[in-house]
Amino acid sequence: MEGDVRRNLHQVLDSLPEGVRLVAVSKYHPAESIAEAYDEGQRVFGESHVQELQAKHAALPADIEWHFIGHLQTNKVKYIVPYVAMIDAVDSMRLLREIDRQAAKCDRVVNVLLELHIAAEETKYGLTLDECRALLDAGEWRSLGHVRICGLMMMASFVDDMEQVRREMLTAADFFDEVKAKYFANDDTFCERSWGMSHDYRVACECRSTMVRIGTTIFGERVY
Ligand SMILES: *Cc1c(COP(=O)(O)O)cnc(C)c1O
Repeated sequence: MEGDVRRNLHQVLDSLPEGVRLVAVSKYHPAESIAEAYDEGQRVFGESHVQELQAKHAALPADIEWHFIGHLQTNKVKYIVPYVAMIDAVDSMRLLREIDRQAAKCDRVVNVLLELHIAAEETKYGLTLDECRALLDAGEWRSLGHVRICGLMMMASFVDDMEQVRREMLTAADFFDEVKAKYFANDDTFCERSWGMSHDYRVACECRSTMVRIGTTIFGERVY
């Protein structure tokens, strides 16, 4: 396996168009694999479990930018807010409020993305487009001084039909434009469109993604 991560990482990086950044999704992979990618210059990594992130953050270099990409329970926000670079999947006002509260305590402003639910699949997570509009219309988020909404995140349906994936990603891209114009027209920090994983990142790059989250293609299959 030695050397695979390096080779895979460079293959992925070489295939990304300009303006698309990589979150290397390292969940369930050992610190040694992360270190291998780190040694090649990769600094942005994604994890989806708080305990696992805590252990890796403690064990690995301090200049890693950790993204929390999973579903985050409000009672665990406090553990990661002191150091996390971005929380990628915020899907409720309650979670946003708690991130703000904990970030205030450590005098930070934490970057977040709002997670959309567009895929046809059943999942408890993510805001429908109407829910996202309602959250933004309500306006409370404007009063939160310790969170910075940097853009939108979504996972397309996990299907072989890449035309369906494309439709979902384009829906997200159009919605980004709507939200940008209506709420963030004068805010340059609202700029991220995070879609694309191992099986669909090439489509995502054609659908205006700015930030792909890729695990398996770089680190291999996860062992649960
Ligand atoms: C695990 C995960 C990924 C990466 O998935 P791969 O198929 O391994 O590339 C991307 N985004 C989220 C939210 C994830 O949980």
